[in-house]
Parts: sequence; structure tokens; C-alpha cells
Amino acid sequence: MKFNPLSNAKLKDLASMVSSDRFSTGESILDLHAKDQSAHTACRPEAVIWPETASEVASVLKYANQHNIPVTGWGSGSSLEGNPIPVCRGIVLDFSRMRRILAIREEDFQADVQPGVVYQDLNDKLRHTGLFFPPDPGARATIGGMIANNASGTRTVLYGCTRDYVMRLVVALPSGELLEMGTRASKSSSGYSLINLFVGSEGTLGIVVEATMRLVGFPAEYSAAVATFPSVQAAAGTVYALKRSGLNPAALELLGPECIALMNQEEKLGLDVAPTLFIEFHGTTTSQLSEVLDTARDICEAQGCRDFRPGLGRAERDRIFKARHALGEMIQHNHPEHKILIMDVAVPITGYAELLAAMQAEVSPHGLIHYTLSHAGNGNVHLNIAGKKDDPEEWALVQKVSERLVMKAIALGGTATGEHGVGLGKRKYMTAQHGASLAWMRRIKNLFDPNGILNPGKIFPE
Ligand SMILES: Cc1cc2nc3c(=O)[nH]c(=O)nc-3n(C[C@H](O)[C@H](O)[C@H](O)COP(=O)(O)OP(=O)(O)OC[C@H]3O[C@@H](n4cnc5c(N)ncnc54)[C@H](O)[C@@H]3O)c2cc1C
Repeated sequence: MKFNPLSNAKLKDLASMVSSDRFSTGESILDLHAKDQSAHTACRPEAVIWPETASEVASVLKYANQHNIPVTGWGSGSSLEGNPIPVCRGIVLDFSRMRRILAIREEDFQADVQPGVVYQDLNDKLRHTGLFFPPDPGARATIGGMIANNASGTRTVLYGCTRDYVMRLVVALPSGELLEMGTRASKSSSGYSLINLFVGSEGTLGIVVEATMRLVGFPAEYSAAVATFPSVQAAAGTVYALKRSGLNPAALELLGPECIALMNQEEKLGLDVAPTLFIEFHGTTTSQLSEVLDTARDICEAQGCRDFRPGLGRAERDRIFKARHALGEMIQHNHPEHKILIMDVAVPITGYAELLAAMQAEVSPHGLIHYTLSHAGNGNVHLNIAGKKDDPEEWALVQKVSERLVMKAIALGGTATGEHGVGLGKRKYMTAQHGASLAWMRRIKNLFDPNGILNPGKIFPE
């Protein structure tokens, strides 16, 4: 896809659309918007605009569409697949000045937000209401970025992903139109679900300028447990058994022994270095959760669990999960000489143990540094593989291994990305995963964005 560099006249036109403090072509600002948290190559935009209103976004899009200028949305830049990297340059729209919570309607379990609202800030604001917005991708992600990537996290096994919480959207289209879709009713059978096209579209169909998000009641009580297993297969079997049990875990995370060794080193956990499940339950009373933990222990022990450490109450849950939540960053900090490829795939539960075995078989013979961490309850696995920064051959090997494993996940009936999105890294698997449906996705793209100005170079293979 070819776009011409922005002329001075066009930069001047764009600058005139917002106040002077909300337009920049400064080098350091362009650098800050050139890279997300992945190992994908950085690419600077030509200008950054911080819109404050929906109509400003619509005007910029209309101008960009008329003059064939790429436009890429930017939330917090915390993506892990190169999703917001403006590979065709052009304009980045940074939503950090659109972070107002417009309305909280407690009785309707809803909040209207601007796209730049960080989800933890929304939850802080909701605390006194006893409601919350459950998807939790860990980083300080924005609602706009979460909608665009259909983000999820550790609690998805109980609460679902971002898609399940989007009730209504207002999006700006390249034509300059502001399109409202969805409803504030908690259910609807009316017409096509346009919302479901926009969620997960990574800013390639339209730009979200407002969203109504569904909220749920805060759990009254928490509990958690760490369970250690003699093998990955025994741990994977327990995932299935716990899901079948009706105990409804709120988090069901499987970590490989190498993750436990790192967490022991950094947080002095003193856990057995073995495949380990981190489990969380939400409930109404501690006595109910105490019974749940007893049943969970029985289920784990029946699968060969060697050590089961339960914790009751919110403080205990926080203590148990603290190291789990910090793991991604621990891995990065412990390997400053390496680039980390964060592979994200998901498979049906029946394919989960086979996928984990294939991962071991692929990485072990090469002696590659790797960490397996997975949202096991959803069959969603991340394999973080390290390659030395100054060793292109090792990095090529890392990519080859990742490629084979993604194809394995697809062959098992799974997906090339469970939660990080397609971005740059997963484009090459779109044909293998979607077959003839990919042509229909292209038609939909052309319908909303006929000139291809929205986040060009993403989702679709070359
Ligand atoms: C330590 C760490 C842990 C993580 N853990 C998880 C996890 O457990 N689960 C998970 O799902 N993700 C995880 N992520 C990835 C990341 O946080 C999510 O993908 C998140 O949704 C990105 O949000 P963002 O605001 O940073 O968006 P950005 O990265 O800025 O952008 C994401 C995409 O959204 C588009 N976009 C941004 N704003 C808009 C808008 N208003 N309208 C249309 N498109 C827009 C961008 O163009 C881009 O395509 C993790 C990241 C890190 C760094």
C-alpha cells in the first residue's frame, strides 16, 4: 500500500483543525507513537493529533480520506502484535485527551465512556457503586484500544472478553460520518450486529469516539489457590476437571516450571518448580468459598496435585496473584539482552494438552529461553520465546518455532490469536485460519474504508 509523504500544506491544514497544543510533528513525540510493547519494528507517524471531541475526529478522518492520508488510532500503545504501529506513517490520533467518563448509570449496569479512558481508572471510579468492568489485560490499556483488540485477560474464563461488554458504540468513519450502533437495552434481536464488526477490527473500519460498556456487580468475597502438578498433562487434565465441576473459577492460569523458577527468584515464593495452576474463585461468603476450595483441592489431588496452597479473602487472593500479574514484566526485565516474541494462540480445551506438548517439543531441542504462561481456562496459551538482540539467526529461529506452533494451533481447530489481535504479526495466518471468509472481511473493509486509510498494513496479508 503506497501513500505519499505529507506536504507542508497538508500538515498546516491538519494543524488548523485542533488547538496548537494538540498537534505535533516533534521528533520525540513521533518516537513515542512509533512502537507498541511488541518486538515489531518501530515506524514513526508524520504527525500526532490529540482530539478532544467526536467531531474533531470526524473532521480529521474526512480530510485524511479526501487526501489519501493514513490514520491510526492510539490508546496506550500497550499492544503486543504491532497493532498501533503506523507502518504507512501518516497521522496518529492519540486518545489521551478523550478520557472522560460521560455517565455512570448504576441501575442499568452501564457506563458511557470516551475511548481514552483507562480501564483501571473506570474501575476506580466505579468502586463506590459496587460495580465493575471485568476484562483485565494487565497493562494500563484504554477502552478504545481494548475494543479495537477485543482484549481479555485472567478473568475471561468467568466474565468473558471485551466484546461481551460493548453495548453501544459511536464511531467516526472515513466519510466524516458519526455512526451510532447498538442499544442500551441489555438484550436485543434487532438487525445485524454492527458492533461485532467493529470490536476486534483494530481501528481498520472506523474510530471509536464513544462507547457504552456493560458493568457487573463486584464479588462480595474472593479466594485463590496455587496447585502444583507432576506434569503439564496432569495440570491440563485438572483444567478440564475444574471447568466441568461447576465451581466456575474466575481465573484458571497454568504456568510452566520456568515461570515458577523466575517468580521464586523475584518474589521468594518458595514454590515447587513444576507446572502450576493459579486459581481464583469469586463468591458471596467466605464459608461458601471455603467449601469451594475444599472441592477444588479434591479435584486437583485426584489429578495428582503435589501441593495445594489455598487462600481465603481478598488480601490472600491479591498475595497469591501478585506475582502472576507481574510475570510479563519480570520476563522482560530479566532478559535485557534479548527480544521477546510473545506468542498468543488459543485452542479448544481438548487440544490444549497436545498444544503444550508440541511447544515443549519445538523449543527444547534448540535450548531457547522460553516461558509458558496461559489463560488455561480459555485454552489460551502465551509462549514467550527469547532471542538475543544481536543474533539475527537466533531471532529467525524464534520466529520459525513460533510459526510452526501457530499453525499447530490452527490445525487443532484453534486461532492464531486468542486476545492480542492480528496486528502485524498474525497477518500471515489469516488465509490458513479463515479461508474463504477472508475475502468477505476484505469486502467489509472496502465498504467502510474504500480508500484504505484506516490503520493500513494491519490484519490483511499483503
Ligand atoms: C504487560 C502487558 C500485559 C498484557 N496482558 C494482556 C492480557 O492479559 N490480555 C490481553 O488481551 N492483552 C494484554 N496485553 C495487550 C494490551 O494491553 C491490549 O491489547 C490492549 O487492548 C491495548 O490497549 P491500548 O489502549 O494500549 O491500545 P493500543 O495498543 O494503543 O492500540 C490497540 C489497537 O487499537 C487501535 N485503537 C486505539 N484507540 C482506538 C479507537 N479509539 N478507535 C479505534 N481503534 C483504536 C489501535 O490503532 C490499535 O490497532 C498486555 C500488554 C502488556 C504490555
